Amino acid sequence: MKHQTRIHILTFICSIALLATAFVLPAKAADASSAAGVVSTASSNLNVRASASTTAAILTRLPKGSYVTLLSKSGSFWRVEYADGAYGYVHADYITQTASTPVNVSISSGYLNVRSGVGTSYSAVAKLYKGDTVLRLSESGGWSRILYAGTRVGYVSSAYITSVSSSSAVVWPVPASRRINQYFKAGTHLGLDIGASTPKVEGDAVLAAMPGKVLFAGYLGGYGHVIYINSYHNGQYIQTRYAHLQSASEVTSGQTVAAGQRIAPMGNSGTSSGAHLHFEVRIRSSAADCFANADSTPVDPLPYLS
Ligand SMILES: [Zn+2]
Repeated sequence: MKHQTRIHILTFICSIALLATAFVLPAKAADASSAAGVVSTASSNLNVRASASTTAAILTRLPKGSYVTLLSKSGSFWRVEYADGAYGYVHADYITQTASTPVNVSISSGYLNVRSGVGTSYSAVAKLYKGDTVLRLSESGGWSRILYAGTRVGYVSSAYITSVSSSSAVVWPVPASRRINQYFKAGTHLGLDIGASTPKVEGDAVLAAMPGKVLFAGYLGGYGHVIYINSYHNGQYIQTRYAHLQSASEVTSGQTVAAGQRIAPMGNSGTSSGAHLHFEVRIRSSAADCFANADSTPVDPLPYLS
């Protein structure tokens, strides 16, 4: 295969259809793209605000050292769950991300007790139900230390939780939004446009749809900040592309990624007129790490995602 070094830049216009009516943001608890953060202010408390601005109303204050569930980054602010089902924004300068793994409660019936310490002799402080997603902070001796209800920390038996990303299925790349702004059209629009969970607001988590290797992460003309990932899926050599990102600096070329792994924040870079993800699925003719557009064939991403 001819391995071209010259980059062919596609020019495309991604129109977006903004909702004209009032948009009610659905409640969104921890999901596969959530992460744990620790409040790292110099003073004793961190303000949680109603919107991503230092002049927005203060909803509550979180003590230094407390955990908080990070949902998505919007500019210099994190959208967080600061109490069970309550959401606000904190300045990212005062949050230190810490290791965490999204896990699902996988009991067959009833509920799972969250306990105040390791072992059934500790008091039950909360109940979790089948399908609830929480963040595992650490695991030891069959017990998992978890972050739940936004900022609370407790312990559950590890036998009743499973890692969210263990599935081998193709992952919808924007867990916060299923809204399609523009469909694939051969020769005209070579990908699928997925709108931001809140129209015009950047920062929704973008996940790798398939496991693979990052071929490129950087800036390319009309694509703006873009990531290319090469995968082998159901007998096909595939390249997925994630364009118009806010940044492409969370992964690097050569890195291996898992399906469902966060790779970037959604953005509005390049030839784009509003925060959205332009997602492409391309069939490669061989296993070669081809970069040029001519070496791969764009196909409709939707059949891969359903
Ligand atoms: Zn597009």
